[in-house]
Amino acid sequence: MIVTRFAPSPNGMLHLGHAYSAIVAHDLAREGGGRFLLRIEDIDGPRSKPELAEAFRRDLQWLGLEWEEVPAQSTRLVRYEQAARDVLIGQHGVLYPCTCTRAEIAASATQSGPDGPIYPGTCKGRSIDPNRPDAAFRIDMAKAMEIAGPLTWRDALVGEQAGRPDLFGDVVLIRKDAPASYHLAVTLDDASDGITLVTRGADLFAATHIHRLLQELLGLPVPVWHHHDLLLDESGQKLAKRRDSASLQDRRLAGEDGLALAKALRSGNLPAGISLGR
Ligand code: GLU
Ligand code: ZN
Repeated sequence: MIVTRFAPSPNGMLHLGHAYSAIVAHDLAREGGGRFLLRIEDIDGPRSKPELAEAFRRDLQWLGLEWEEVPAQSTRLVRYEQAARDVLIGQHGVLYPCTCTRAEIAASATQSGPDGPIYPGTCKGRSIDPNRPDAAFRIDMAKAMEIAGPLTWRDALVGEQAGRPDLFGDVVLIRKDAPASYHLAVTLDDASDGITLVTRGADLFAATHIHRLLQELLGLPVPVWHHHDLLLDESGQKLAKRRDSASLQDRRLAGEDGLALAKALRSGNLPAGISLGR
């Protein structure tokens, strides 16, 4: 059975791009006679405002979607901690503490990856007290890839991909302010929730290389991915929570017809100035 999900982070209101993403995931599940899940990804440190989740639910309802909600990430912290401690550290020994600041990394990095500067490995091999409150944990990517061996994954739209987690270097898997980073939490949760088709925007395409690697290290099942096109503004930039003027909540409270909006997004009949692309 096909199981998809919409996994918004409550650090700002949802916008049209989120509506599109939720509709794509919802419709793929319905077409396959499967399940569509909602998971609130609320471990974004102080930027997470769990109270926004209620607005998200109203927005989805306004669009005419039906879903099953699974527990929010903030209720799953023990699971993240346990996987990191028992498997990534205990079994594989692939995490190391890092106390570098963003500015230090920006100043010392010589290469850039999909998410900005690639961490130059400064703390690898340093002996930092892992209990230091300002320590994050990074993955030793070279070691992890050697353990996992060559990997592939499949995107339903663009086909088989050769795994390239090396593009990112030693990414953070445990943030200093949370027991996981996005990459670790989302990988564990998609497995726990039985997701068979990870549906999300093409802006997260490259991140899948990391998730595929983590699945291998953690012994998790491997889903198929569906990275859909993004809604772009007049300048060809993806809509962002901060830039976009009208949130779904604004539109809803202004009395706009949510079902008509959902229909328009489904038919590709997009609002003025908005286009679909990658
Ligand atoms: N929570 C992430 C976000 O809102 C999306 C996670 C995902 O779909 O993998 O950007
Ligand atoms: Zn460091």
